[in-house]
Amino acid sequence: RAKELGRKRYALFDDTLAKNLVDELGMEGELRHALQRDEFQPYLQPICRLRTGELVGYEALLRWHHPERGVLLPGAFLKVAEDCGQIELIDWQLFERACVALTRLPEHGSFLTFNVSALHLRHADFDQRLLAMIGRTALAPSRVIVEVTEGSLLDDPERVRGTLERLRQAGVGAALDDFGTGYSSLNYLHSLPLRMLKIDQTFVQALDAGSTNSSTVVEAILALAHALEIQVIAEGIETPRQRALLQGMACELGQGFLLGRPHPLAHWLGIEA
Ligand code: C2E
Ligand code: MG
Ligand code: MG
Ligand code: MG
Repeated sequence: RAKELGRKRYALFDDTLAKNLVDELGMEGELRHALQRDEFQPYLQPICRLRTGELVGYEALLRWHHPERGVLLPGAFLKVAEDCGQIELIDWQLFERACVALTRLPEHGSFLTFNVSALHLRHADFDQRLLAMIGRTALAPSRVIVEVTEGSLLDDPERVRGTLERLRQAGVGAALDDFGTGYSSLNYLHSLPLRMLKIDQTFVQALDAGSTNSSTVVEAILALAHALEIQVIAEGIETPRQRALLQGMACELGQGFLLGRPHPLAHWLGIEA
């Protein structure tokens, strides 16, 4: 009887749960080693002016050059890195590398954006640390843009607003990433010091499917952003038709596989990796 109960209890502790736990614990250790072994690299994806195709900036995207599993995308490890608090160390290393990289690239006037985790933004000294880091790399602060998501504003929007405002005063810009997918509040758009807004790729992909609803939404976002003097980047442009439609709606900037994939720094410097 007791044995039977015990077995049932055991069955409740789902096998996949146990496996996930073991995987996460294993990955936590791996992440620590990866930092020491220098396995994280910024890949840069171009951001272009849609009308001319001119490259105006890059987004830094995290890649893990895993010794056995090859190049890993953030989707494979970001959550664990956030849960165990490693993301901050990883992010700081990545931000600094990406900033140094930008000083080595020939394009003048180009900017660099990077993604800041919600966890990270909450730290009271985030802006000071960022400005100190930018100072070390001798990059003009106006060439740096931090990307935040709507989700990271939920907890304490006033604090985030303060952080972004201090950064703005020092010249660093802010972009609202994945716009339209989170808890979109129009309130954020005028209360935050935003230089840019990134329309999420789901809207861009829906344009191609001929969805009139999604083009209405994109047009409304563009009208609102323009009225507030916020630049718009459309994310995830994959087809010439998507690009043409967005251009027709007077969307000025775009990013996506059609315009350029993320590549390691060596690619942009014209060096064989
Ligand atoms: P995100 O900030 O929205 O970044 C854009 C994602 O879309 C990237 O995925 C990029 O490779 C992908 N992408 C770009 N163009 C296209 C396209 O035309 N089609 C499609 N289907 N996808 C496209 P990635 O690099 O896998 O990054 C995923 C997410 O991970 C990012 O979403 C961002 O939220 C997060 N992330 C990336 N790098 C960092 C980092 O350094 N730190 C932190 N904290 N998060 C990061
Ligand atoms: Mg982003
Ligand atoms: Mg993002
Ligand atoms: Mg995005």
